[in-house]
Amino acid sequence: MIDFQQVDKHYGHFHVLKDINLHVEEGEVVVVVGPSGSGKSTMLRCINRLETITRGQLTVNGVSINDKKTDINKARRDIGMVFQHFNLYPHKKVIDNITLAPVKVLGVSRAEAEKTAMYYLEKVGIAGKAQAYPSQLSGGQQQRVAIARGLAMKPKIMLFDEPTSALDPEMVGEVLDVMRTLAKEGMTMVVVTHEMGFAREVADRVIFMDQGQIVEEAAPAEFFANPREERTRTFLSRVL
Ligand code: ADP
Ligand code: MG
Repeated sequence: MIDFQQVDKHYGHFHVLKDINLHVEEGEVVVVVGPSGSGKSTMLRCINRLETITRGQLTVNGVSINDKKTDINKARRDIGMVFQHFNLYPHKKVIDNITLAPVKVLGVSRAEAEKTAMYYLEKVGIAGKAQAYPSQLSGGQQQRVAIARGLAMKPKIMLFDEPTSALDPEMVGEVLDVMRTLAKEGMTMVVVTHEMGFAREVADRVIFMDQGQIVEEAAPAEFFANPREERTRTFLSRVL
């Protein structure tokens, strides 16, 4: 579903991603961890070409994402993204935040889009807030709306960039629960997070990044019990 082959990226002279090789299968949940500034967000953003790569091959759902001939808007329909700051439209009701893209981008009828929106709001446990404005919701509720908005486009892949980092601690669990459910249902997911409990419990594979490189990748049991690399051990000793 996602295939990085010898991918490099530079910001000007700064070499932010170094020889990234990463292969994500359909239905797999890959959790990316690593210190701040290690390139996690940049790597995630390359997947939907919010950032362009400077070398290598990146294929997503069979499409070469940096090929000039690729219709990037079409490719992006298959890729949902959830950010640390929920990026909801503040002047639109919850339901309208969710129906906007399906109506505008997919050409779905208003009635159909509302039905789908309610289905996903139900799924993330906040159907009762459909008519509220984002500012009337808690952070955890807003993030669940953002997830429902992503799902309403029926993507094949969901990318999460520190989805719980901006939340008060008591709201982290409700968002992780929604993500756990999605994972169980077979969604292909790449999740950047500092929630090591989630990584241990939900990931099929954990990737550790440092200074623009994938330093280590392993199944979670192996990753947490027997990290092979010194840099991984140092990181884990700081966060666990
Ligand atoms: P992480 O998500 O792991 O914290 P990022 O991918 O956000 O790391 O950033 C990796 C490095 O790239 C950091 O040193 C950051 O300062 C730098 N960086 C990020 N975005 C840009 C940009 N648009 N221009 C220049 N440098 C950037
Ligand atoms: Mg980041």
